Amino acid sequence: MKAVQYREIGARPEVVEIETPEPKPGEVLLKVSAAGLCHSDVFVMEQPADEYAYGLPLTLGHEGVGVVEAVGAGVDPGLVGTAAAVYGPWGCGVCQRCAAGQENYCLRAAELGIAPPGLGAPGAMAEYMIVDSPRHLVPIGDLDPVQAAPLTDAGLTPYHAIKRSLPKLTAGTTAVVLGVGGLGHVGVQILKALSGAQVVALDVTEEKLALAREVGADHALMSDASAVEAVKDLTGGRGADLVVDFAGVQPTIDLGQQLLGVGGDFTLVGIGHGSPSAKVGFFQSPYEASFLVPYWGYRQELFEVLELARQGRLTVHTEVFSVDDAPAAYGRLWDGTLRGRAVVRF
Ligand code: NAD
Ligand code: ZN
Ligand code: ZN
Repeated sequence: MKAVQYREIGARPEVVEIETPEPKPGEVLLKVSAAGLCHSDVFVMEQPADEYAYGLPLTLGHEGVGVVEAVGAGVDPGLVGTAAAVYGPWGCGVCQRCAAGQENYCLRAAELGIAPPGLGAPGAMAEYMIVDSPRHLVPIGDLDPVQAAPLTDAGLTPYHAIKRSLPKLTAGTTAVVLGVGGLGHVGVQILKALSGAQVVALDVTEEKLALAREVGADHALMSDASAVEAVKDLTGGRGADLVVDFAGVQPTIDLGQQLLGVGGDFTLVGIGHGSPSAKVGFFQSPYEASFLVPYWGYRQELFEVLELARQGRLTVHTEVFSVDDAPAAYGRLWDGTLRGRAVVRF
């Protein structure tokens, strides 16, 4: 089968022919319909050799949707033929976090060597993939696989990041979205669908600002120092109640902090270069501000995100590529020229 692999530190991903896997007991073999490209793949491929921890060769892709092709011993054969999205942050399924559906914070994943597909385990950017347990599948019904694939991360991650701040986002409040890429353009829609806040989106190109307006942002502004005054004006001087940073570089963290109001949430989702950090303390951050660094989302939240899409309240803007064009799609992600999410359709 064809697979898109990262094979050598510092090299670009390539399309290779590898053996089709077979499901072991408890596993599921999925015929992949669609797989999304995430900026975290770029992060992984930019890790220096001494910090790289994902194994080589690595079949990429942690946003996957497919149809169950076969099941291993002990798995209900009735699942064959089911179209499903893959919940990616695999956990042990047994610890207290996993019992609450919070497999993204599994207490034993590291100890047991469990890694998400595409981030250690073979990923979704291949004609077939192994899902370690049927627990990690969410049936998608008649949702378009190209929509559903990015919802497993570009949808689930902002959903989780925003959901915890919803009680603060009543009418008359303000949410700032920094970075309107794959995650950010879904984040804007989640805020508009679920909160009473006005949404101010910031990015660095006119194209990204146009996308922000198209998906519902009330204001779209250049991400520079001028945004500080602008957000002050738009909030009557009180500042933002939520800032979600989907870029996660020092300039966005610094800017985002200046936009935050008293009691606001600063939620850092982007994993930028270096070790960017926020300043927390008296005279450095607003009184009663909270700083949150969430990772991916809970299992039941993927059901909720897919349901929002089914209701037509979330639409992922996609650029669709063939598997042979996946390396070129990664090039576009690297260059920052994609609009919304790049998805490989199989
Ligand atoms: P993307 O490349 O699609 O989008 C990033 C956006 O940020 C782009 O629109 C870019 O123009 C914008 N940007 C860059 N610099 C900016 C600046 N100074 N001000 C404002 N905007 C700026 O990336 P993505 O796939 O949406 O991922 C976003 C980030 O989230 C990445 O760092 C990724 O690794 C991370 N991520 C984190 C989690 C998590 O669980 N915390 C999950 C998925 C992705
Ligand atoms: Zn991701
Ligand atoms: Zn666990």
